[in-house]
Amino acid sequence: MKSCVVRGVWCVAVVVLACQARAGGGARRGPSAGAFDGKTAFTYVERQMAFGLRIPGTPAHRATGDWILSQLRTRADTVIVQEIPHGALQLRNYFARFQPAATDRVLFLAHWDTRPHADQSQNLGQQRLPVPGANDGASGVAVLLGVADALKQRAPSLGVDLLFVDGEDYGNFADSTDVLIGSRWFAAHQPPGYQPLYGVLFDMVGDKDLQIYQEGNSLAVAPEVVQRVWQVAADLGYGRVFVPSPRHTLTDDHVSLQRAGIHAIDVVDFDYPFWHTTEDTIDKVSAASLQIVGDVAVALVR
Ligand SMILES: [Zn+2]
Repeated sequence: MKSCVVRGVWCVAVVVLACQARAGGGARRGPSAGAFDGKTAFTYVERQMAFGLRIPGTPAHRATGDWILSQLRTRADTVIVQEIPHGALQLRNYFARFQPAATDRVLFLAHWDTRPHADQSQNLGQQRLPVPGANDGASGVAVLLGVADALKQRAPSLGVDLLFVDGEDYGNFADSTDVLIGSRWFAAHQPPGYQPLYGVLFDMVGDKDLQIYQEGNSLAVAPEVVQRVWQVAADLGYGRVFVPSPRHTLTDDHVSLQRAGIHAIDVVDFDYPFWHTTEDTIDKVSAASLQIVGDVAVALVR
């Protein structure tokens, strides 16, 4: 009985010490609370790849969409589903909102579909095959879901909207009717009075050999947003990845939003040798790259 009392006193002492340590600047909480986790984000790439090809109109596409929606419903304050009729296809955008009442808002977006044809494959025989979409599709979704994790842990300092667009990569970019479907739909069906401060598209951001140059249409329409994002990256020590010079000019989902008056930019590594080929597989993607891009995204809204 006596030894038991002594043990009890010891336990109380340990608890008091632990409380004191916690009170001393929150050190036990750790700097990672509310931070982006690249390793977890990588599991979101794995999960999407496990569904198979996310080609509109296929069971794998529908199952992936259902999974993304379920993930958002456990993290965001509100989630809006946009049903998009497109010929025989039924597509879906997801619009997940944090701090929905906040007037000052930032919009992040990525496409969640994958391309039916690997038309950039050097092997002509493979051009009719589908693109696996580990980087072109899954990486952007993984970053946005990782951001959702971070914002659920610790609310952002302003409103944040995460838009997952469907049908970005379905058809031929030359004729434009079967591409950027979800972003064009969103541009035409925005919430009443919606005017975010700016938008950032994340596309092909998981490449192990990550170098993100400034994109031409982003610089033309929203140079102040490019400046802000690249400055945040430099402040985080990522200046070698977010290279502060222009390179490619791309037709991507950000252009749909720009046409609707939103200052949106494209964060994209277009020097990806496996783009629109059958080789866009998960071995080309790394948690370290997702970490860098996710850190920048979260820092923008802290
Ligand atoms: Zn693509």
